[in-house]
Amino acid sequence: MADRTLYDAMTWEDISVGATAAGDSSISVGEVGDSGPLVLLTAGVHGDEGPWGAWAIRKVLDRIPMSDLEGRVRVVPVTNPVAMASDRRCADMDSLDLNRVFPGKEDGTHTERLAALLKDRLLADHVDAAVDLHGGGSWCVNSFAFSFPGDEELALAADAPFIVERPPADGPPTSLTACAAEAGARITAWEMGGRSGREEEWAERIADGLQRVLSIAGAISTAPPPRTIEDPIYLEGLSVITPSRGGVLVPKLREAAIGTVVDRGTWLGSLVHPATFEELERFEAPFEKTALLLIRNQLMVLNSGDMTYVIGDVKAPE
Ligand SMILES: [Zn+2]
Repeated sequence: MADRTLYDAMTWEDISVGATAAGDSSISVGEVGDSGPLVLLTAGVHGDEGPWGAWAIRKVLDRIPMSDLEGRVRVVPVTNPVAMASDRRCADMDSLDLNRVFPGKEDGTHTERLAALLKDRLLADHVDAAVDLHGGGSWCVNSFAFSFPGDEELALAADAPFIVERPPADGPPTSLTACAAEAGARITAWEMGGRSGREEEWAERIADGLQRVLSIAGAISTAPPPRTIEDPIYLEGLSVITPSRGGVLVPKLREAAIGTVVDRGTWLGSLVHPATFEELERFEAPFEKTALLLIRNQLMVLNSGDMTYVIGDVKAPE
């Protein structure tokens, strides 16, 4: 008989977030293991990014036999269920960004209550490593990891083409991962994958990354899959391209371009008039070497100010 996997052995607890006008909502927290290093895996803090990360979590849990478990794994695949229900970044009733409202408020709005509950429940005991899965989602596909000072190894584990370096925290923590870091956890956040013809390939790749983190943290003895990208490109910052008015995006570059570097002037896509399809604006790569961290790879409606591409300036070596 095949060995039981982490997924088979996982126990799930549904925790009530409290009443919304339409009824109660709850989050499902999965746990496996009794002692040893604790790794926290979260996905769907933003409701329109959830299933892609949740799929990767399921995939990694399915791979690891219980006999390889040496620590504990805690998962929250749907961290913001009300936002997920409407496929939006934030819950409609307060439009607060769950990634900015920590530590939350027990008697606050829905998202503030959710933050307070997540912090209390997930960080009640010492977390050794935390990975927050973002990215991709309903309207884009992306390909980078955030690296925090001292925790570079966890960002590298993502095997992302691009690594965005975050400065040391200044001010009180406002995200779950920042709260985890303040409590002593090593952290990373990954912006990988999303809706595309390659979404399962991305989910497998993220699962590989999660397996590396579980291994680095000492939660499993399973050998980590080798990384495929030897020298990821480090970026100190990122830039966002937004349309100056509403319209329809006709992408020129599609999913094969994600994670690549293109030359200045490369045609990324066009904003067209929704009725006539007249070109209103053309999006082009602005840097001599432009890293494509996030692209919208399908025909879709845009409003002015919508994040349409996230790009980075790849500096030539000194
Ligand atoms: Zn996000």
